[in-house]
Order: sequence, then structure tokens, then C-alpha cells
Amino acid sequence: MIIRPKVRGFICVTAHPEGCKQNVLEQINYVKARGEIANSPKKVLIIGSSTGYGLASRIVASFGCKAATIGIYFERPEMDGKLATAGFYNGRALDEYSRAEGRISESINGDAFSDEIKREAIALVRQKLGKVDCIIYSLASPRRTDPVSGEVYKSVLKPIGSTFLGKTVNTDTEQVLEISIDPATEEEIEATRRVMGGEDWERWMDQLLAADVLAENVKTCAYSYIGPEVTWPIYAHGTIGRAKDHLEQSAKNIQNKLKSLQGQATISVNKAVVTQASSAIPVVPLYNSILFKIMEEKGIHEGCIEQMHRLFSSYFDANRDELGRIRLDNLEMRDDVQREVMAIWPRISTENLRELSDFGGYYQDFLRLFGFGIGGVDYGRDVEIA
Ligand code: NAD
Repeated sequence: MIIRPKVRGFICVTAHPEGCKQNVLEQINYVKARGEIANSPKKVLIIGSSTGYGLASRIVASFGCKAATIGIYFERPEMDGKLATAGFYNGRALDEYSRAEGRISESINGDAFSDEIKREAIALVRQKLGKVDCIIYSLASPRRTDPVSGEVYKSVLKPIGSTFLGKTVNTDTEQVLEISIDPATEEEIEATRRVMGGEDWERWMDQLLAADVLAENVKTCAYSYIGPEVTWPIYAHGTIGRAKDHLEQSAKNIQNKLKSLQGQATISVNKAVVTQASSAIPVVPLYNSILFKIMEEKGIHEGCIEQMHRLFSSYFDANRDELGRIRLDNLEMRDDVQREVMAIWPRISTENLRELSDFGGYYQDFLRLFGFGIGGVDYGRDVEIA
């Protein structure tokens, strides 16, 4: 099969196995070039490890910290001649590269929200690692089935209180569009909290603690985003922001529960990057296209791997804000960067998109998520699908 990108709105419905593998290798090479990270965790569990920030966390853990890793993700494998999702190819490639260097690298493909996968993960931790000293929680999902009630919650990306009027870019058609999003209902706010808040993170930590598979001084970290004012109605002050507030509360609850182990539960506020999850958030792709141009011009552009390398290099100890959160978004939020982004924001339109922003670079990064446009890959070659 010759595999080409098929972009539909904010998603690409095809993925290239060789391209995904090469994309993982490039991130591994970035980490290896920076040498072994001192004072780093050695047994790491990453929940949501196949794409975006979770994948980058796992690559840094395995190749920068030389840690044994277990990754959990939920991806469609190759089946009946149909392509797998990019995350499946990424997860497979990561295990292959890590094991080739003699390190433990195990993956579980299943619903991390379920107790069944938690039990499977705990058994695997016992068998392969004994105990874990670091747990990264990096799930981004549109839905969650509650493991107790069986109820399915669907998250929404909506403002709270009033209608949002703003602009965004359609990744597929390259058009800058005025959009209007009605406010979420109370039910939608609660459903989004159930999916993207900290309930499941806390459940994971409770079960790992009860199973006695957490090491002394264990650290756990979940990721959040704050961003600039133009994104607040849809992000920080919207349904997803409400869920992130809950995630922060969960960090405090978990921190209390880890006292006997002198453990630490932290939130890391990361920078806006191109991932499958962020591509789906209105406003964010347009903001990212402008942001990337400004940060590139200033020589401070970062993607997932650069951010996660910074996080693990300080092993979750640097750049805390007054609420105790790690601020990896410090460069994005710098006054000069935001001033320049905001000077462009009101002027941007379909006609000047490529001139005023780095939409080209954004789109390239978007395609790379699915293994396309990556140097060294022969896209004309027939690929065999299982
Ligand atoms: P992503 O879409 O790239 O990755 C999501 C991961 O979750 C994948 O590995 C996927 O397989 C996994 N997943 C989803 N549902 C699952 C399930 N039911 N069971 C097991 N695994 C499941 O997302 P991302 O952008 O890397 O987001 C990760 C975290 O980082 C989120 O909390 C997000 O809010 C946060 N964050 C993202 C950005 C950004 O710009 N992308 C910025 C700051 C913080």
C-alpha cells in the first residue's frame, strides 16, 4: 500500500508506519545528543505514552534517564489490511528502540480509565520493575467510561457562561474563520471534568499505592496549560480549564496520600505545541501558527521533546510558580513574545496567514504527528499492512 496523508478537518485519518518510526528516532536522537540526565528516575510508568507530551516523556525517560519504562495508551492496531493509528506505530517503535539498547520497555494498549488496565499495569510493574519511582499522567481523551457506574462521559471544548466569538484556522482548508461557540451546559462542564480532570489520575495513584508498587520518594506529574488571554474563553476559563482546576486539586490530594513515602505530586504547565489533542481545540492552531513564528524568530521555539527534556533534566524541581506548579511555559508567556503575538492576532486573515504566521511550519508539524513529511522516508515505497 502507498500511504498518503488524508486530512479531514483537524485530523489526519492515515498514518505512515515508517514515518512514525523515524519521527520517534529523531526525538530519541535529540535526547541522546544531550547525554545522560543525572538524578533522574529509573522506573517510570507513563499513562498516555504514544503521542504528544506522553510519548516525549517516555523517550526522555528511556533514552535520557536510561529508565525502564511501561507505557499505557489506547490506539487502533493494524487490522484487516487497515492502517493503525500513529500512536500505535510510535509505541511499537519506542519499544523496539529501547529494547535494542537492552532496556526494559513494555506497553499496554487499552483503556487507561478502566480498572482492568490498571490491574494489568500493576501486575506488569510487579513483574518487570518491582516498584515505580515516577508516574507521568498525560492522557487526553474525548470520553471516559466511569469504571464504577459504567456511565460514559464526553468532554467538550466550550466556553462557560457566555457565547465565545473568536477566530481559528481550518487546518485542512487553510482558512481563517470567525467562529461562535455556545456556552456549555452544567452537564457538559461536569462531563468534561470527569474526563479531563484528576479523578482518574487519583484512582491510578490510589491503586498503585494500595498494591504497594510505589517506591520511596516517588514523584508523579500531570500536564496542564494556561496560555494567553485570547485562548482563555475557550481554554483556561472554559470547560477544559475547569477540568484542569480539578486536576490541580487532585495533585494536592495525591500529595497528601504520598506523605508516608515522602512522595511528590506536581502539575507541569507546559507550552502550546502541535499534538493530536491540541489540533482539535478551536483557536489554538491559529495561535500556535503565530506563536511559532515569533518564538522561531527569537530562537526559543520548543516542541514536545525539548519541553520534556527540560522537565526531566531538573527532575520536576525547577521554575515553580506561587501555586507550586512547574512552569515550562515560561518562554511562551514571556512579555515580549505575547506582545508580538497579540499585535498580529487582530490582523490575521486567510489572505495574510502565511505571511503573518508560520502556518507552513505548523502544518508540517501537524503532518509529522502522523508520520508524513519526514526526511529519510521513502513515501513512494509499497508498505505491507498486517
Ligand atoms: P495527545 O493527543 O498527543 O496524547 C494523548 C495520549 O493519551 C495518547 O497516548 C493516547 O493514546 C492516550 N489516551 C487517550 N485516551 C486513552 C485511554 N482511554 N486509555 C489510554 N490512553 C489513552 O495529547 P497531548 O497534547 O500530548 O496531551 C497530553 C497532556 O498534555 C494533556 O493533559 C494536555 O492537556 C496537556 N497539555 C497539552 C498541551 C498541548 O499544546 N498539546 C499543552 C499543555 C498541556
